[in-house]
Amino acid sequence: MQWPGTPVERLQLFRPNFCPWPGCREHHRTTPGYRFLRHGTYRTETRTVPRFLCRACRRSFSRQSFALSYYLKRPQLVIPVAAGLQAGSAHRQLARNLGCAPSTITRLSARLGRHAMLLMALALRHLRGGLVEPVVLDHFETFEFTQDLPFGIATPVGRDSWFVYGLDPAPHARTGRRSAEQEARRMLRPERSRRGGYEGSSARTIRLLLALCPRGGRLELAGDGHRSYDRAVQQPGLAGRVRLHRFPNPRRGPKGSPRSPEARARDQAMFPVDALHGLIRHTAAHHRRETIAFGRRLNALLERLFLTVAWRNFIKGRSERRPDPVTPAMRLGLASEPWTWRRTLARRLFPARESLSRVWRDLYRRDWITPVLPSNTRHRLFHAY
Ligand SMILES: [Zn+2]
Repeated sequence: MQWPGTPVERLQLFRPNFCPWPGCREHHRTTPGYRFLRHGTYRTETRTVPRFLCRACRRSFSRQSFALSYYLKRPQLVIPVAAGLQAGSAHRQLARNLGCAPSTITRLSARLGRHAMLLMALALRHLRGGLVEPVVLDHFETFEFTQDLPFGIATPVGRDSWFVYGLDPAPHARTGRRSAEQEARRMLRPERSRRGGYEGSSARTIRLLLALCPRGGRLELAGDGHRSYDRAVQQPGLAGRVRLHRFPNPRRGPKGSPRSPEARARDQAMFPVDALHGLIRHTAAHHRRETIAFGRRLNALLERLFLTVAWRNFIKGRSERRPDPVTPAMRLGLASEPWTWRRTLARRLFPARESLSRVWRDLYRRDWITPVLPSNTRHRLFHAY
């Protein structure tokens, strides 16, 4: 996978390879030979930025159009915000530390999440036809705004590489015991679109994985025995292409008692996904248990989780306890060394140049709304899309 080691902002001899304007026919160019004219420069406080003119659409742009900090007033915030979000800070804590408004952090968090989603789409494009390892699938459980509005997030993880191959939300009804008052309040909440719930989210995830399998190959999938996984693999077009291994969670004895052989087998088979879920609960403020931090919107929660996944796939070594800096992306041949945040955020990705599934496109545009909230800001910027 081609990825710059130096951020675009710092490249002295930068040359555009395609036009950054989405409407231009040169926007989708992937081969060399893009024709442009030099078009002067402009000065910022710290550097001189070259400008260019596209010979196809005659519109101008600058080197900054290819940087993740495009159109930001304080580009120096991008890396500390990404690192801070991943280190478990909540938005207001970060705003206090960095001396900016909380809304700045919220907007940057969304931009970083969109970037991380496109980075995953780019990685998947390079993995097409190369998925040979079994994948462990489980849903990470969380909620939006209130525990009345729970949802799971499908997290497929490579058994050997620990690479996270995607994310897909599955809103579902609240379960568990609740008081009469709680139930009355829940009944007043507006309806959410479920988009197929667990089964829909599982089937979409399986389709995404099958697109990565070699032609005619079968997908080896391990799950916890959830019935929606059984149903998902029976959907039209999927039946016969997936071998599902079921590892239901067995009854466990009191705390401290030895694990049964079934429990041991289940824990071993599901380890990569259990480890990921532990990591998410540990590193994201709003996913901890017993916290006052919580996510308001499914869309924003997913954006932040995409950022966590980018960190998991490209930055974090398999183990920090033992000296194993090999990242999941390195195991799959996508990278040759662990990346830093600086490198992960080294250039801007464009949604029109990546292939996004319907759900990911909705998340990118913030079209997956949370009806209980009075306002849901969509992402409709013209320049910084
Ligand atoms: Zn153009």
